[in-house]
This record gives sequence, structure tokens and C-alpha cells, in this order.
Amino acid sequence: MNYTRVALISDLHLSPAWPGLTDVLLRFLATRAGEAQAVFLLGDVFEAWVGDDDDAPWLGTVARGLRELAASGTDVWFMHGNRDFLLGQAFAARCGMRLLDDPTLAVLGGVPTLLSHGDALCTDETEYQAFRTLSRTPQWQAQVLARPLAERRELARQMRGASMQEHQRRAGAGEAPGDVADEAVRQVLRDTGAARLIHGHTHRPGVHEVPLPGRTAERIVLADWRDGQGEALWIGAEGSWARETLR
Ligand code: MN
Repeated sequence: MNYTRVALISDLHLSPAWPGLTDVLLRFLATRAGEAQAVFLLGDVFEAWVGDDDDAPWLGTVARGLRELAASGTDVWFMHGNRDFLLGQAFAARCGMRLLDDPTLAVLGGVPTLLSHGDALCTDETEYQAFRTLSRTPQWQAQVLARPLAERRELARQMRGASMQEHQRRAGAGEAPGDVADEAVRQVLRDTGAARLIHGHTHRPGVHEVPLPGRTAERIVLADWRDGQGEALWIGAEGSWARETLR
């Protein structure tokens, strides 16, 4: 995978509760995104995913926006986040996009770049990692997806509530929200030889130097979308990068 001009977005957390953010995405897909050879959706595009059979009309609108971008000649790649990991081949096909493994090594603007959602790198969160391993097995997913749609919607609602409670508990206990573990980051960069890691998930947009044996790599963290505003990271010639605010 080799591109010289791409846009990357993640952590939109789209839901019917925030239609403004869906509009920001649709505007981006219909305008600027067409200037990219590829657009990478690096996970948590959706606040929750209950199955590709979800017939909510707003999802159809998003699918059409993505499909039109793909039809115009821009490759669209989707990587699962911890919220939308149940998104499957059927919905991807409706969107004209292809699913991407986490992590994936790509050459972007000439730079060997490792792409990840980021949750797998939060190795300090052992309880979450156990759930992540379980919930990515075909057996677990088949079991969940076999339930009626209404039941899955209720399950998603409960999981969001539990996640919110945990968030509040941590804030009350003065614990910082989870972040990627330095050693996990160094390990994937060593193992893959990548010069750059791009991920989202942590909602801590920034750029960090990562010291490795004999070299220094770079870690770029994508911004989450909030308050009616989004962000895309653009990669261009010689690995140059820029953040673009989306409204
Ligand atoms: Mn996430």
C-alpha cells in the first residue's frame, strides 16, 4: 500500500444524537476528501455498531457519501475501533470501502507508516484487553449478531452506559483516562520497522518522538470529533503532514 496524498480521520463517534457531526463528515466526503488518493477511517467512526443489518436511515446517508467518494476514484479504507468493531463486510461493501487490519503498515508520502486504532496499544488496561481478545473472536461475534436487532440495540446502550460510568469513576478517583503504553508503542515500531505510527482512540491529539535503538520514530495521534467540529490529518509529499479543521 503506497500513497502520496491521503487523509486520515478517526474517533468521530457518529450517532443520531449528534447529527451535526454526521453533516461535517458528509461535507468533507463531498469536497476535500476527493483530493486524496485514499481516505483512512481509523476506527470509532460510529459511537456504536449493532450489526450491518441496522436499518437506521442516517446510516444509509453515510454509506452513500462514502460510496460516492469511492466511486469518484478515492480509495476508502476502514479500520475497526473499540466502538464499531462489529462493522462487517456487508456494510463495508455498501460504502465501497475495504476493511483494514489493525495494525497495517503502509507507505504514506514515502514514509513507512504503521496505522492503528490505538486501543490494542493500551496494554495497561488488562481487563479491557481480555474483553478485546474475546470480542474479536468469530464465535463471540456470531453469538452477538444472532440476537434480534432490538436486543443488540439495548446491549449497545448498556455498554455505552457502563463506559460512561467507568469514565466518571476514573475522573472522581483522579485517575487519568487510558493512554497507549510506551513499551507497546516501541515494540510495534521495532517489530515493523515503521518510522511513524498514526493512531486515534485516546482523544489526546498530539505528536510525540519515540526513541528506538539507533533511530527515532514519530507517533501522531488523531483528534476526536466534538462540538460540531472534526479534524483530518493530511499526509503529503516527503511525509509532510498537516491537520485540517472540518466544519
Ligand atoms: Mn476507541
